[in-house]
Amino acid sequence: MKRITYLLRRLPVIWKLMIGATLLIFLVFATYNFAQYLVLKQWMMKQEQDTLHTMMTQVQAYLNDKSDAAKTLMLPETKSYMRDILGKDQMIRMIDPKGKELLLVTNHFDPSWITPVPTAGKILKDVWHGEDHILVYRGPFALQAEHGTIEIAINLETFDHFNDTLLWVMVIGGFLAVCISALSGWAIAKQFLRPVKALAGTIQNVKQKGLQERVANIENRDEISELASLFNELMDQLEVSFRQQKQFVDDASHELRTPITILEGHLNLLNRWGKDNPAVLEESLTASLLEVRRLKGLVQGLLALTRAETSSLTDHIEYIQIDAFLAKIKSRVETLYPEFSFELTLEQKGSLVKINPLHLEQIVFIVIENAVKYSGDSKLINITSRVKQNEVYISVQDHGIGIPPAELQYVFDRFYRVDKARNREIEGTGLGLSIAKNLIEYYHGKIKMTSVENEGTRVTLTLPAAQ
Ligand code: ATP
Ligand code: MG
Repeated sequence: MKRITYLLRRLPVIWKLMIGATLLIFLVFATYNFAQYLVLKQWMMKQEQDTLHTMMTQVQAYLNDKSDAAKTLMLPETKSYMRDILGKDQMIRMIDPKGKELLLVTNHFDPSWITPVPTAGKILKDVWHGEDHILVYRGPFALQAEHGTIEIAINLETFDHFNDTLLWVMVIGGFLAVCISALSGWAIAKQFLRPVKALAGTIQNVKQKGLQERVANIENRDEISELASLFNELMDQLEVSFRQQKQFVDDASHELRTPITILEGHLNLLNRWGKDNPAVLEESLTASLLEVRRLKGLVQGLLALTRAETSSLTDHIEYIQIDAFLAKIKSRVETLYPEFSFELTLEQKGSLVKINPLHLEQIVFIVIENAVKYSGDSKLINITSRVKQNEVYISVQDHGIGIPPAELQYVFDRFYRVDKARNREIEGTGLGLSIAKNLIEYYHGKIKMTSVENEGTRVTLTLPAAQ
């Protein structure tokens, strides 16, 4: 038994479905047919018995009408009357109390099969003669002072033959039904499993050939096809993020290569001339330090960026009062950049946002640091906060060098720096704004930039207001 369950469990789904459907149909069909067969047989037997009963009543009534039964039985008209009511495969026989035959009519029936038995009451009996099934009905009639017996018999050959045929028809019908249900079960299961197979094949292909494989031909709109569609969407997303990851690594290594190459050049120079020439020594050391600082900035930026993408940002989320938060930031940047003046305007008081305070600080610092770096000769920076339609806006406005309109769309890209020649003396990695954008978008916020060259730049941060 255990082995059978084990084997059944290991069968492919298509076989399981087919066997299940076949068994079910077979059970239903067999039960129904068998019940029908029994009911029909019972009903037909009842019909035969009724026939016998009617005949008996008719014969008894015929004899009771006559005054002398013994004489009546001798008359030829009695015989012809009996022959009239007799059907095929039947016999009517009258016997006296000693079992002696008084009258006999038969129709395709051998009377020697039934031994005469005188009776006083009505008795119905099933008799077998070889293969033949015979129903015998005995009943009394008045014979002078005594009782004679009427014996009516029916050979049930036709009835049995019909029963056998019925049984065979049902068995063959059942067999056909089982075959048809097995076939259709198989066809349905096959149709049903086609998308599953396609899905499995695609997963196999992904394993072997790579992320670009997809499940093809999803025509049906059922749950399994939905699964295949979902799988395709998932693969699309995976492919995009995989490509982004690769791009990121390419960009990062490219950006890291420049300072490292410069550093290598200076070290070579130092190695060759620097030991004896203090001027070269001084210059190369300064330049190398500058590159090392650039490298450090790059690595820190890259770290911040990957952390923003991968770390669980939702830790330490708090409700932050924007007014107090900006006041604190203002006093910190004032100590950091004493030559600048920061003007803070709070258009509405008491607005709240829900965010990790370290992240909000990081975002605002990136923007203010840019305002400071790209301010040129102007030394004024305006910080404003506003609330509008459930959103909190923080904007930082400088009056510095600005950004050409054509380049504005790229400043949020990783490593992008406007006009590298112009920026050469201003240190930077081009990662600040992309870090800020990543972070704020995680909190369903936005970052926007408007700028006019040589007039200034305004960066606006938007975050959903917390209630
Ligand atoms: P860092 O990673 O050190 O911040 P960065 O400042 O160059 O380097 P981002 O902050 O991403 O990088 O800014 C990208 C570019 O956008 C800058 O290089 C600069 O050219 C331009 N930019 C950003 N903010 C301003 C601004 N307030 N005024 C003018 N140009 C700006
Ligand atoms: Mg910056």
